Amino acid sequence: MIRVRFAPSPTGYLHVGGARTALFNFLFARKHGGRFILRIEDTDRERSRKEYEEKIIQDLKWLGLDWDEGPYYQSQRFETYRRYAEKLLSQGKAYYCFCTSEELEAERQKAISEGRPYKYSGKCRSIPPQEARRRVEQGEAASIRFKMDDGEFYYEDLIRGRVEFDLSLFGDFVIMRSNGIPSYNFAVVIDDHEMGITHVIRGEDHISNTPKQIKVYQALGWEPPEFAHLPMVLGPDRSRLSKRHGATAVFQFRQEGFLAEALVNYLALLGWSCGEKEIMSLKEMIDCFHLERVSKAGAVFDHQKLRWVNHRHMESLPPEELARRLKEFASLPHDLEFLTFAVSKLREEAYTLKELKEALERELNYSPGERISPEEVSVVEAFLQELEEGKSVKEALKGASKKTGKRGRELYHPLRVALTGRGSGPDLAFLVELVERGSERGYTLSPAERIRNYLKWLSRA
Ligand code: GLU
Repeated sequence: MIRVRFAPSPTGYLHVGGARTALFNFLFARKHGGRFILRIEDTDRERSRKEYEEKIIQDLKWLGLDWDEGPYYQSQRFETYRRYAEKLLSQGKAYYCFCTSEELEAERQKAISEGRPYKYSGKCRSIPPQEARRRVEQGEAASIRFKMDDGEFYYEDLIRGRVEFDLSLFGDFVIMRSNGIPSYNFAVVIDDHEMGITHVIRGEDHISNTPKQIKVYQALGWEPPEFAHLPMVLGPDRSRLSKRHGATAVFQFRQEGFLAEALVNYLALLGWSCGEKEIMSLKEMIDCFHLERVSKAGAVFDHQKLRWVNHRHMESLPPEELARRLKEFASLPHDLEFLTFAVSKLREEAYTLKELKEALERELNYSPGERISPEEVSVVEAFLQELEEGKSVKEALKGASKKTGKRGRELYHPLRVALTGRGSGPDLAFLVELVERGSERGYTLSPAERIRNYLKWLSRA
């Protein structure tokens, strides 16, 4: 059975690159009836924070990427890593290293000054194991290093095909620090093996770790999983997406008023596509998903495209559902029936829930802004008189038209300006109904109040 995992380190918020990795794992698992596992890689005690972990979990849930197992925590598995490190030591596949950080730093500086890439010299490899053990038992600090091979190496990546390496560039790497904390490259192998992971799907930044990990699998006599490395998410300047390109954290997009399904839809398009079809539900993405169809080329995060995708999802939601989302997003006091009516039209121009909220506020918080000519004022006055005689808006329009002889734009323009404060905006019949419905509920001024306000403002301004 297919088993995949998402393994975030809780050292920051879930960003779009991480969310895309989670999504592709999720899609792959759902497509093949496999299992999707969540593992928190919290071995870095200094940088890991509970707050980040909670946020990551919250964001994954919000995106609808629910997992079948976990979260598992690496911080609760130190004993397991130690056991396997011992095993490698006893088989002579790893060794104790007593080099201090000062010594290692000196090695590194030397390499830099000689212009060659740094790798560990392998100095402690030659210490006889019994002697090394005695020194450790006497309390000397030691890390454990893995004996890395030399020579040519390759593996078959499901996305990138054959990937080749020169192992002589790697050097013996630390699998267990002197404080008993495992390194990423070690813990990840132990966990992926013990958790029965069949496919490791992750960002391309981990390609260079893959040979180290495969070597550890082999040293422990285990079959490595398949690897699939996803292209990087890039900013508009084609450098790796980062904070300086603007919002990158999932929660920021949520705050900006993007719908979870729209963000998920857009993330799916970063490095993958389902033919021409761009707007998809999660179900459609699952049906269409193929790892083999993921591109090798970096994917540019396009904020405008995300807005468009969001707009399309907002347009296709049933209005009641969009109203419910808006109410929750903006903590609005208005009733759902009213909001349903409001969003049915206002969504035409809104690309996010935030813009939808702003559009609603603009219509409800009446404030006069534009002036009209004295001739137009007479139309508005005639209309107001009709309203004050108890006519409905529709009848009042007819009456005003008859009294002033104005029709079409000459009739509607002044009324729009007086009623909404602005010379342009959504369909006037809709706005009038919105104002009527809103004023019945006490959300806004009535049409007559608005016009009186307007005329007062005009005479004062
Ligand atoms: N904790 C690692 C990261 O967040 C996971 C890498 C992997 O998937 O192996 O980058």
